[in-house]
Amino acid sequence: MTRENNLPGGAFSAADNIQQEQPSSRPMIPKNEEPGTESLGAAKNTVSTLAKTMSSSVSNPFGCSPFVAKPSPLRSLYAEYVHILVGPKKIDFGIHRGLLCQASKFFQAALNGSFAEALTGIVELPEENPYIFENVHTWLYTKEVKSITNGEDVPCNVNRLVELFIFGDKMGMPTFCNETIDLLIDVFEKENQVVAFFLARAWENTSAGSPLRKLLVATYVQHTNDLESFHADFFPPMLACPDFLLDLAKAYSARRGDPPKKRHIADPCQYHQHAEGEERCPKKETF
Ligand SMILES: [Zn+2]
Repeated sequence: MTRENNLPGGAFSAADNIQQEQPSSRPMIPKNEEPGTESLGAAKNTVSTLAKTMSSSVSNPFGCSPFVAKPSPLRSLYAEYVHILVGPKKIDFGIHRGLLCQASKFFQAALNGSFAEALTGIVELPEENPYIFENVHTWLYTKEVKSITNGEDVPCNVNRLVELFIFGDKMGMPTFCNETIDLLIDVFEKENQVVAFFLARAWENTSAGSPLRKLLVATYVQHTNDLESFHADFFPPMLACPDFLLDLAKAYSARRGDPPKKRHIADPCQYHQHAEGEERCPKKETF
């Protein structure tokens, strides 16, 4: 059965303005069916036996066996498959273990600790949406955050980007979150407007001080002078998220009545998460 036949509607309906693309078809290679692995064990044994034979019978002037190569970090990223089963229908995403663990603190802990998942190489995420994980899966291999519609890569809409940030934040994926933040900034600047339908979702699934919250509030403040600036359509979703209104009021107060200055965020890095000592991103050209 292919994933296309198996995909559920997910946790989000069209009414939530989530793009319901058909995920691309990628072959999911079970760990024990990965091409070539059936002979790898024998090859390893052969190398090991050879190395022992060499070390016991041949003087090695270099102090180490020339037959046992230490895996490079890049090679280790792609050394083994794990399977992430997403949503109630357990859609199977096969991913290289090292690649996933390098990108996510959650998977790093789940797949390398003493949990059962570390032994089985299988992690179940029944509450998550396969369409969201499809975007993450694509990003892991291409470093592009794109959705797929009618077989073509297309930019993600705002609601999808918010969902991707929430997922990445939950899974401890700062680089992925930074990418979604940059794309949100691009969309807000390109469309030169703000939207409100995702506010409650964003505030309910992030904590105080979250880069997503900060960016959304900053975007609102950039586009408006005060609450009276908003169209009546904005108020139901805004009133459904009192914490957002509180953050917005604080931001207006901090601006002390100055009018909006620029519809341009010159320093996206202020909404990024970087590890200690990691270099900050360059500022954009102002205009
Ligand atoms: Zn940055």
